[in-house]
Parts: sequence; C-alpha cells; structure tokens
Amino acid sequence: LLVVLALACNSPKKMINISQLQLIDKKVDSVISLMTLDEKIGQLNQYNGFWDVTGPIPKEGQAAKKYEDLKKGLVGSMLNVKGVKDVYALQKIAVEQTRLGIPLLFGFDVVHGYKTISPIPLAEAASWDLKAIKKSAEIAAEEAGAVGINWTFAPMVDISRDARWGRSMEGAGEDPFLGSKIAIARVNGFQGDLSTKKNILACAKHFAGYGFAEAGRDYNSVIISDEILHNVVLPPFKATVDVGVKTFMNSFNELNGIPATGNKYLQRDILKGDWNFEGLIVSDWGSINEMIPHGYAKDSKQAAEIAINAGSDMDMESYAYVEHLKTLVKEGKVKESIIDDAVRRIIKVKFELGLFDNPYKYCDEAYEKATLGKKEFHEGVLDIARKSIVLLKNESNLLPLNKSGQKIALIGALANDKTSPLGSWRIGADDNTAISVLEGMQKYPNNQLLFAKGADVALGRTQFMWETKINTEDKSGFAEAIEIAKKADVVVIVLGEHGLQSGEGRSRSDIGLPGVQQELLEEVYKVNPKIVLVLNNGRPLAFPWAADHIPAIVEAWQLGTQSGNAIAQVLYGDYNPSGKLPMTFPRDIGQVPIYYNYKNTGRPTMNEPESVFWSHYIDEKNTPLYAFGHGLSYSKFEYSNLKLSSNSFSINGTIQVSVVLKNNSAIAGREVVQLYIRDLIGSFTRPVKELKGFEMVELQPYESKIITFVIDEKMIEFYTANHKWEAEAGDFKVFIGGSSDNTLEADFQYNK
Ligand code: BGC
Repeated sequence: LLVVLALACNSPKKMINISQLQLIDKKVDSVISLMTLDEKIGQLNQYNGFWDVTGPIPKEGQAAKKYEDLKKGLVGSMLNVKGVKDVYALQKIAVEQTRLGIPLLFGFDVVHGYKTISPIPLAEAASWDLKAIKKSAEIAAEEAGAVGINWTFAPMVDISRDARWGRSMEGAGEDPFLGSKIAIARVNGFQGDLSTKKNILACAKHFAGYGFAEAGRDYNSVIISDEILHNVVLPPFKATVDVGVKTFMNSFNELNGIPATGNKYLQRDILKGDWNFEGLIVSDWGSINEMIPHGYAKDSKQAAEIAINAGSDMDMESYAYVEHLKTLVKEGKVKESIIDDAVRRIIKVKFELGLFDNPYKYCDEAYEKATLGKKEFHEGVLDIARKSIVLLKNESNLLPLNKSGQKIALIGALANDKTSPLGSWRIGADDNTAISVLEGMQKYPNNQLLFAKGADVALGRTQFMWETKINTEDKSGFAEAIEIAKKADVVVIVLGEHGLQSGEGRSRSDIGLPGVQQELLEEVYKVNPKIVLVLNNGRPLAFPWAADHIPAIVEAWQLGTQSGNAIAQVLYGDYNPSGKLPMTFPRDIGQVPIYYNYKNTGRPTMNEPESVFWSHYIDEKNTPLYAFGHGLSYSKFEYSNLKLSSNSFSINGTIQVSVVLKNNSAIAGREVVQLYIRDLIGSFTRPVKELKGFEMVELQPYESKIITFVIDEKMIEFYTANHKWEAEAGDFKVFIGGSSDNTLEADFQYNK
C-alpha cells in the first residue's frame, strides 16, 4: 500500500505535458485501486463550510455530522471556506486523519475578484478586451489561491437575452461568439499554470440553458429548441472545453422537460461524449435534491440515481450521494464503474493541482498577507474598470468635463456609495471598500464640487450578500439636490441599481430606474438640463426618457474596487472610453427578450409598416434603445471603403474583407471594429446578423488604418438540420462597423 501511495504522490511540480498526463492517469488508477466503495463515494461529496476553526469543534447537529464524515474520508471537497487558517485545519483532517489521506478541493464563487474587486463580468465583457479580462481573472485567482481556495465556480458562460434575469450581470451578455472568446480568456486567466499557486481550477457554468429562464425569473423552466441550444447556448461551453477547463457545474433549471442535473443528453452525450470532456461536473447547490420538487425524482435516493447516471460527478450540498449511492450500487441501480469514472475525474484534478505532492500548497499565511490587495492588483482592476465603461450618448460635447473653473453638482445616493460598485459576488471584500464617484471626482480639485444624495436607490440592511433590496419612495432629499443643480454649471447624476438589486435570485419585472430616481432625474432636469447621467447597474436598464432628454449618458455598471477613479477619469477625459455594449438595451420591458441576432419572420420586422400585419408592437418600436456593440468615444471614428478580395470562396479558401477606419478628431482613441455575417438561406433559419470577429484598434489623432479580416469556412459554420456543425453553400452578407446597428456591408458567396 505504501509503495502505491508513494508512486501516486511523487509527481514533479512542473507544467503538465502529455507524458505527465499519462503519468497522472497511472497515479489516479493506483489511488483508486486502494479505495473502498465508501471512500469513492466520499470523493463525490461536497459540503458547505461548517466550522470556524477559531471556535470549538462542532459537537452536534449538521456541523457535527459533517465533521465526522470528514474524518471518515466521506468528503471530497468543501465550498465557502476562506482563509488559510480554516482551509489548513480542514485539509489537515482530510490528509492526516482519514485512511488514505486524500486532499480536499476548496471551491468558492470567486467571480470577479476576491478582495480586490474587478468590474462585474457583464461590465468586463463591455471592454471586449480579452487581455484585460484575462488579467482580471488572473488577479482573482492569485488572491483566491492566497487564501486557500483552489477552485473557483467561475466563469459563468450562460448567454442571456433577458435583462429581467438578475444573473445577466455574471455573464458576458447575449452573444455566443463574444461569449466564447471571453470564456476562453477567463478560463486561461484562472487556470493558467496549475503547477503554481497563482492559479486555481476554473468551472464553466451553468450547464446548460440557465440564462434562458422563462420570463427572466431565476431558476425558472427553460424551453428552447435544439437548434438554439447548439447555436447559441452551447458554444461558450464548448470553447472552455477546447482550452482545457477542468470543471463544469450543471444547473438548477430544467431544459425541455429534464432537469439539467439529471440530464444525460447534456452531460453524458454532449459534454463527456461528443466533446470528450475529461474533467469533473459538480452539481449546483442542492440541485440533485431539487429534482424532487421539479417533479422528476420521488425522493433523494432516486435523485441520486438519476444524477450520477446522467453524469453529475459531485454532489454540492444535497447529501444525496453520501447517503444513497452505496445502497444504489448494492441494488444494481448504479454501476460501480460509473462511480469509478466520477472518482477518477475528481482525483485527477487533485493531481493536476499538485495537491497530492503538497496538500497545503495554498496554505501559507505569510503569502496570504503579502498577496491580498497588492498594489498591482489595484492597477489591474482600475485598467479593466476604465475599459468597461460605455459612453452611450454625448451630445453638445458635454463630455469630457472641463477640469477647472466649473461648479459641478454631483447628485445621487450611488455617487457616494462605496459598497454597491462591488456587485453581488464579493467574497473577501468588506463593505465600503470601493472608491466612490464622489471620491474619484474630488481628485480634480480645480472645480467646485457640490454633492447631494437626492434619494436613496433602495432600502434595507446592506451587510449580507443575500439581502434583497426594496425600493424607497422617500423624496425628502429632492429639494437639496434641486438647489445644488440650480447653482451648477453642469450636473453629474449617478443613478441605477443598488449592488444587491442584481445577481442571483434578483430578477426584476421592471427594468427602469428603481425607486424614485426617475422622478429625481426629471425634477433636476427642470432646473438644469446640462446633465451627465452616470449609470451604475448590473443589467441593461430601460430609460427611454433619459435617452431622449439627457445630453450625456455613461454606462458605468458596477465597476469594483476602483469604480470611482475609473468613472472620474472618464468624465474628465483622462481616459477616452472605448466600451461597447455586450447586451442590447431595450426601450421598454415589453420588448424583452430583445437581441441583435434575432431571426426574421415572414413579415417585415424593421421596415416601415405597410399594413397592421407586420411583426411589431402597436405601442412601441422594434428597435432597441441602444444596440449590441454600441459605444461612443471622445474620438470620432469613421468607417469607409469596405472591400472584399473576392466575392466568392469555396472549401479551404478564404476571402479578405477590409475597411478603412479613420479617427477624425484631435483625440487619440480605441475602437472595437466589429465583423458580422449573415447567412441568407439555411437548413435552419439563420439570424439577421452574427458577430464573427472583432479587433481593437488604437488610432492617433486624424490617423487612418486599413483593418482586414479573413473570412473562412469556420466563420460560417453552424449547427445545421443535419445535427452537426458545418458550412452550407449559398449567399452571405458581411457587415463591418462600430456597432451591430451601424455597419457597412457587402455580399459574398460560399460554394461547395
Ligand atoms: C449558484 C452557483 C454557485 C453556487 C455555490 C448557487 O446558488 O447558482 O452559481 O456557484 O451557488 O455558491
């Protein structure tokens, strides 16, 4: 036994290459050969943290049971444990007190930072800057690793077309192409080189369809066609598998009648079958037992049977596996080979992390102290925060603000809020640790800054992550805000959502400005219409009145620790904004779901009506308030001269398409040049436009550049009626521009 364990534990701590992978497989086998069925099942069990090691050892209740299970080797992973002290104490039990001493995985939702908080993922997606996004994930991984966490439950790669869904904030928006690129950047950022303690396991979630919850209500049923599943929902997941993501999480929702957690088609056929995913799949929190209320399993035992047979390897906090799998194996309802396969996946990532060599790899208190909140992390999150800001509107060149001689009225509770910018996942960051807009603007002392709150966004205690906020009706602060607006040369008003008004479980049926903020805006406008509206929010909001009346609008999301600095630098022109919307902003909640890559009907959709029978609303336009890809700059970018190298190509061929981009202004800037393609006729109907490429271009004042993309077969492939990814011959259109609704276009053909 000792010899086999010694072989198992003696792996070099270098980059993993192919032969090392084979070696790891051997080691995994050798460990598994030593395990009893109980120990195997234990590896499939993940418990929520139960013990604050500074207190006494739990003696009763659930915590005591978990403690006993841990000592018996019946736990493979824990979640929500943070801090080296706690991780170390629990790991020591697993390693020193269990028969085989198999180390634990420690998972946590390090979604956009641990202590030094980056913008929420939707905001980061607005940067379209894959390097900066990767960097942000690296910072998160490094800080998380320093506190003992070796596995983040991120990135969430769910596509979302519905702003009512509160978790839109946690993904990359509505587009599968952009979503895939960002998913890759995040996985690479988190996982990087797993032989170092700067990197940790990533987890692509929620597999699958979670972002398509009916009516945007979190956890609701998902009913989508196989075509949409493959062409829209799955591509970002597939992209993470292609770059070696080590873990997946399944999902609370049912997909077309079968809960994702018990969904064999998703987990075994697609993920582990077609895509050959070799990592582990963890259930979502309690989602195995949730199959009971779903009406898919009669009790926890049957739920365990369904989940493991469908391919869910690890049970997060349902207790279903640890309680029932042994009986199910004895009864022949679950084959031991299925258990072995799940165990193999879990043991393997533990080897890949180097935990068998050093179970305390992530447990170094001095390193923890030295790492948290490092200066370079702050620089990194400031960089991505600035890049995430989207200038939606800038009439009469109200922005950038003059740096001196101005009286500025800064209005809005969010302007002085040091917690909301941290968003709803901020595990290691305390309240009040973000730079507020007020603080950011105070760094420009040559203007006179007046501040009034005007109105609260929402009421309620703010300490706890899961607190739900309720809107306030209190207008008693209006008078003071109106007073300072009257005196000011320009008003900067910061409105939007409280940090806890988006996120998990926070769907909204109204996506306007919460509470009395709309009224506040209109009252201030009456006395001073020179307004810059800064929005802080976790999802697209509908603000048609503001879009019509307010001359300058800046989408600043929830930007994390450096929020106020990033916003002030953009407002004052020290940073030229370059963000582009990753999700369509509707005019009205009634338009939702609204997205740029919609399909035509048999009727006109965007044309002027010829009769009442066109596809439209009788009380609202079809167009969005701001389209996917929209975002302005202080530079003035002009597109011209779209050219194709040829107007047709065939298998293995390519076409080059180029455009001239000019910065027709005296200000240097960055532009995200976007390439879209339309496939005119398909075996499945095709979207009117699909993003297929983008490039970040920096231009000096009055500089022009020719931007060239290569169109190849890959770009026009889709999941066809043959149920596979392939390119179909036919006519296409290519579009290039600075937004999905503002492009130049040309036609081409693909021949087979
Ligand atoms: C969420 C997951 C998360 C898990 C663990 C669930 O409620 O849906 O995204 O990773 O909790 O915190």
